[in-house]
Amino acid sequence: MSVPAQYDKGFFGHPKGLSTLFFTELWERFSYYGMRAILLLYLTAAVADGGLGFDVGKGTSIYALYTSMVYLLSLPGGWVADRFLGQRKAVLYGGILIMLGHFTLAIPAVEAFFTGLVLIVVGTGLLKPNISAIVGQLYHENDDRRDAGFSLFYMGINFGALAGPFVCPLLGENVDWHLGFAAAGIGMFFGLIQYVRGAKYLGDAGAEPEKFEDPREAGRHRRILTAGIAIAVIAAAAVAALHFSGIFVLTVERIADSFGFILFAIPVVFFAGLFLAEKWTPVEKGRLATIVVLFLAAAFFWAAYEQAGSSLTLFAERSTDREVWGFPEFPAGWFQQLPALFCVILAPVFAWLWVRLGRKQPSSPAKFAIGLVLVGLGFVVMMGAASASAAGARISLWWLVATYFLHVLGEMCLSPVGLSTMTKLAPTRVTGMMMGVWFLAASVGNYVAGRLAGQYESLPLWQLFGLFVLLTFGAGAVLALLVRPIRRMMGGVH
Ligand code: GLN
Repeated sequence: MSVPAQYDKGFFGHPKGLSTLFFTELWERFSYYGMRAILLLYLTAAVADGGLGFDVGKGTSIYALYTSMVYLLSLPGGWVADRFLGQRKAVLYGGILIMLGHFTLAIPAVEAFFTGLVLIVVGTGLLKPNISAIVGQLYHENDDRRDAGFSLFYMGINFGALAGPFVCPLLGENVDWHLGFAAAGIGMFFGLIQYVRGAKYLGDAGAEPEKFEDPREAGRHRRILTAGIAIAVIAAAAVAALHFSGIFVLTVERIADSFGFILFAIPVVFFAGLFLAEKWTPVEKGRLATIVVLFLAAAFFWAAYEQAGSSLTLFAERSTDREVWGFPEFPAGWFQQLPALFCVILAPVFAWLWVRLGRKQPSSPAKFAIGLVLVGLGFVVMMGAASASAAGARISLWWLVATYFLHVLGEMCLSPVGLSTMTKLAPTRVTGMMMGVWFLAASVGNYVAGRLAGQYESLPLWQLFGLFVLLTFGAGAVLALLVRPIRRMMGGVH
């Protein structure tokens, strides 16, 4: 017999179901960040060293496509769960696909590698948005524990993001890349076991898809799904035909370029459609305009912040002294533990800080501007690191430690604030979609991040890192100028 949610305090004062979701997401992020910590290293490692031997341009194009698609697919993933599967099944199927994906990567063949990436992309699209949606459903509408519940959940994300980049690089870089990928799959396997065993604590949260009031609605959604799948299949067939007939031979870079055009068109079409679709009141229009500005700011932020797994990991591998205190050289992917470690340490500090500041705390656009500047400052440090290592010297690991610390300070001002602000600003009839918009910003940001990292060998490093300083300081300054007008446009939302 399950306890009604408001009386259930079985997990640190929160509903016991939160524990199920906490550990599922912990293991999922273990697999995601663990594998990601070695992905670019594997792509660019020489064939003799067991890698794929791609140059940095090709490697980062694949990296950009992968990290961008993972977040992009949360748009259809959320929709499919809402309308057809229900969130619970979506998370289960997603987790299974992710696990299979990592195990497929463990097979040493290029075909297996690309198949594995596709499986993880689809699986994460199903799992990531929907698991957070179930967290929200564990609480009644007026339950004060909701925000704290999400903070706890964000901790789970980062515990996973801390452990994965310890285990996978250790096995991947030191023993065999494929063993590193297999470890990610085993992590997801643990996550699935405990998701299935803990399902009983979730009550009916996310158990059923939304009911359609009007049966015609149901038919319309089914037609959209069929049309979507049909278009995807036809497009894939057309592209394959062009490729094999030699009319338009596909290279990874060409796919990445074309994907970029589509990706940039998506928000333009989406927001234009949103503005035109309905008659919004002036207050609603102001709020939607704010969402557009915050969306752009977040995309700039992620474009810089997400150098973590790409250019900063290459820098860790090639230019950082990784022999400390007489120990043998540690894996370059280990640096990926730092952002998660700082998140775990700083999240409670920031939670305290915002409560402490109360009404005196900066508004959300101001926090976004601060976040952008902080991530930019991290790259000022990296410009120093680049000049210190310009002659090919391996420099102290503290440069990267300082950079990641600044980056996470920035993340704390932007990432947890972002989603809650988006959902508060969104007119109620489109709140669900705003979670998707948030991930869309991450998708665009990750794409730009990966493509710019492709300049790692063609630009002098201080210039590459300087570019991120310009981008983030520029975006931060524009946003800072807009804080006042935006606050007026937000129509009462702080
Ligand atoms: N680090 C967080 C996670 O992995 C946020 C990622 C994002 O929104 N881009 O879930």
